[in-house]
Amino acid sequence: MFQQAPPTLGNQYEDDSVLRSYLRRSLPASVLHEIEASLFEMGRLAGGELYQMQLADRLNEPTLTQWDAWGNRIDHIELTPLWRAAEKIAAEHGVVATAYEQKHGLHSRVHQGALAYLFTPSTDIYSCPLAMTDGAARTLLNSGNQALISRAVAHLTSRDPREFWTSGQWMTELTGGSDVGTTETVAKPDPANSQSWLLYGRKWFTSAATSQMALTLARPDGNPEGGRGLALFYLELRDEQGRLRHISIDRLKDKLGTRKVPTAELTLNGTPAQLVLGSSDGVRNITPVLNITRLWNGISAVSLMRRSIALALDYAQKRAAFGGLLSEKPLHRDTLTGLEAETAGALHLAFLVAELTGRAETREIDEEQSLLLRLLTPLMKLTTGKQVVAVVSEALEAIGGAGYVEDTGLPVILRDAHVLPIWEGTTNVLALDALRALGAGNQGFKALLMEIRRCLAQVKDQRLWQPAQIAQATLAHAESWLAEAQQAGTPILEAGARRLALTLGRVTELALLCHHAQWSLENEGDAWTTAAARRLGTSGIDLLTALDG
Ligand SMILES: Cc1cc2nc3c(=O)[nH]c(=O)nc-3n(C[C@H](O)[C@H](O)[C@H](O)COP(=O)(O)OP(=O)(O)OC[C@H]3O[C@@H](n4cnc5c(N)ncnc54)[C@H](O)[C@@H]3O)c2cc1C
Repeated sequence: MFQQAPPTLGNQYEDDSVLRSYLRRSLPASVLHEIEASLFEMGRLAGGELYQMQLADRLNEPTLTQWDAWGNRIDHIELTPLWRAAEKIAAEHGVVATAYEQKHGLHSRVHQGALAYLFTPSTDIYSCPLAMTDGAARTLLNSGNQALISRAVAHLTSRDPREFWTSGQWMTELTGGSDVGTTETVAKPDPANSQSWLLYGRKWFTSAATSQMALTLARPDGNPEGGRGLALFYLELRDEQGRLRHISIDRLKDKLGTRKVPTAELTLNGTPAQLVLGSSDGVRNITPVLNITRLWNGISAVSLMRRSIALALDYAQKRAAFGGLLSEKPLHRDTLTGLEAETAGALHLAFLVAELTGRAETREIDEEQSLLLRLLTPLMKLTTGKQVVAVVSEALEAIGGAGYVEDTGLPVILRDAHVLPIWEGTTNVLALDALRALGAGNQGFKALLMEIRRCLAQVKDQRLWQPAQIAQATLAHAESWLAEAQQAGTPILEAGARRLALTLGRVTELALLCHHAQWSLENEGDAWTTAAARRLGTSGIDLLTALDG
């Protein structure tokens, strides 16, 4: 009787020619040589033990126990075995720490990004607490608050699982996740401790509620309304006896995906907290968290695209239809090639943001690169967030009916992918943020134009002329559209902001692919990226339409 061989995974670093080629270009050979063992090891785990653990953990979900047998309120969240293992592996392999040890200076962020990219798809979004942990470490370090830095940063960046802490990021309230200026949580001075405040309020979405600490927003008594009147606070969830500090976990959210992530609704009823940086401007002061979590979001998006394609490509070598393997069918190959091109573009864009972040953290960044980082962070997050849902959905179809069946482990990827356009800023909210990042006198936009033109100036091979021309034409259109829209006024500009942002995100991906393709032809004798650039160029780059009030 016929038996279908299932798709399997090999070493996820070894098999990833797109990542490996990118790293060969972007890192000095000596750095790549030094870090490659860690990537092979993470690739081995991700395609081996960790992946097997993930499949075995499929039916498990975190549970909340609010009361013990004797009537005590305990609010205990039990994580699944996969997540417990993931925390240990993440710490030991320095998935957060690598960015802070800075063994390779400005390249450390790329190294960390590659580790996170390999680790994420086998851990059912354990990247969520890691992203917030990384963001919290960066925020505390930037704040210059020595007491909190001494207290927490060594834990957040530890490689010892016994010492390692994760952090939450509690912003969203019932009043809004986008417009956090409406936050209702209030902070009152702690009568027992002049250094401390007591927080009262409800936090409506708090992922990874098992973390040891959190950064959160609250309005100190007497402060004005709006974002400026909020302050950024640091708190530790439990006291020395392990009891929650006046926090009740009301329930865990029943979500479409990310079901391993314990996303809780919390009530703070006098929770002690410390100011991180001043007693106002909390929304501005929490920005470093968001920049880091948006980078993680993009890298996670690429990693889920890559995972679904790795499975679809392997399956195509094993599944026969109409007298041949799917991998031999021109239309099936064409379908997968389109997905690979999207993923390659997304990878180059996400890792460019990692490169620039690494530069900013080591202060090896010039003004133009700073403007570029400011603009590319929202563009990259929103573009890859849209790509991942489309790519994973198509990859599932490429596996046929089995792609829709739970115990193949594929549907969970699609459900999890759907969070990536929502949290850390929705597509619209980030498109509006990108408008702000265009900068005074469009300086940010000009920095992006320069970067794209620099990439396109590298192109020599005739096969790349067509995608390079598409990129040039798109840029010219974006420039004229923006000038016209800015002239027409805010409502017109805002109405087109999403199309503008996606166009800029996609044209940056195309230009990066063109640049890399030329490098790869010259240095690796490889035309794969050239084919990917040609394919991406014909997959809807310019999404701008005529101005329409
Ligand atoms: C699984 C999950 C985990 C989460 N974990 C956390 C967490 O740990 N910490 C945390 O703080 N939050 C968390 N969130 C919350 C998340 O960040 C918010 O849901 C998100 O920011 C959107 O906020 P909202 O839900 O209030 O939607 P709203 O702000 O009400 O937005 C609704 C819609 O309106 C659009 N919109 C809003 N403003 C504008 C505008 N000016 N112009 C055009 N369109 C607009 C948005 O794009 C969106 O489509 C989590 C969410 C999910 C789904």
